[in-house]
Amino acid sequence: MFASCAVRLDHTQMRRDLTRYDTLDEVRLLLVEDDAPLATVIERGLIEEGYAVDRSATVADANEFLRLNDYDLVVLDLGLPDGDGVDVCRGVRRSEDLVQAATPILMLTARDSVADRVQGLDAGADDYLPKPFAYPELAARVRALLRRPKATVSPVLVVGDVTLDPAAHTVLRGAILVPLTAREFSLLDYLMRNAGDVCRREQLLDHVWDANYDGLSNVVDVHIANLRRKLSLPGVDDPIETVRGVGYRMMTAVAS
Ligand code: CA
Repeated sequence: MFASCAVRLDHTQMRRDLTRYDTLDEVRLLLVEDDAPLATVIERGLIEEGYAVDRSATVADANEFLRLNDYDLVVLDLGLPDGDGVDVCRGVRRSEDLVQAATPILMLTARDSVADRVQGLDAGADDYLPKPFAYPELAARVRALLRRPKATVSPVLVVGDVTLDPAAHTVLRGAILVPLTAREFSLLDYLMRNAGDVCRREQLLDHVWDANYDGLSNVVDVHIANLRRKLSLPGVDDPIETVRGVGYRMMTAVAS
C-alpha cells in the first residue's frame, strides 16, 4: 500500500516538473542521475547558475522528459537502476527531431576505463566526466558545451558533395541527410570552413572543444572516426583526409 502511494506521488511530482518551465525562455537542462545526494548537489548548483533543471533518476523518466521537452543540454549518468544511460544517449541521437538529435550530452559516470569512455562517445556523448569530480568542473563543462554556436544565420557551406547548413543545423552528403551530434557538427563546420588546409588536432581541440579541455587526448580522433562513418557512402571517397602525425584535412574535391 505504501509502495503504490509512493509511486503515485512520484508521478504527480513528475507531471509538475514536466510543466514547470514550459513558458519560460530559459536555458533548460535535463539531469539524469540516480544518486540522490549527488543529484541534489548538481541540481542546486545548476539552478543557482540560472539554468532550469529537470531531474530524473531512471532511464524511463529520462525518456519521458525527452519525449515531452527540448533541452539545451543533458547531464547523463551511465549506471541507472532500470538500464544504461548509453541507451538514453543513443535514443537522443536517433531522434527524428533534428533539434533534439543535436542536444549536447555530458556523460557522468563512475566508470573510468577507456573502453567505457569510448563507448559513451561512440553512443553520441559530447563530453565525458568521470566520478568523482568537483562541481566547478561539471559547471565549466556545461558552460563550454552551451557556448558552442547553435543555429546562427550564416551561409550554407558546400565542400565537394557535402553541404552544411548552420541555420537549419543539417548536413547532406549528396542528397542524403546525415544526422550528426552537436560536436560532430561543430567539427565538420570547422573542417569545411578550412577546407583544403590541414587542421591540426590541437587546433580542432581549441576551436571545437574548450581551450581548457583536458579530457581524452584521442577525443578528436574518436569524433573524426564517427564523422567519417556517418558521412561514408559506398563507392565514394572519404571527404576527410588524415595527414599523418598532424591532423585532418577536408578535401575540396571528392573523387567518386
Ligand atoms: Ca548511477
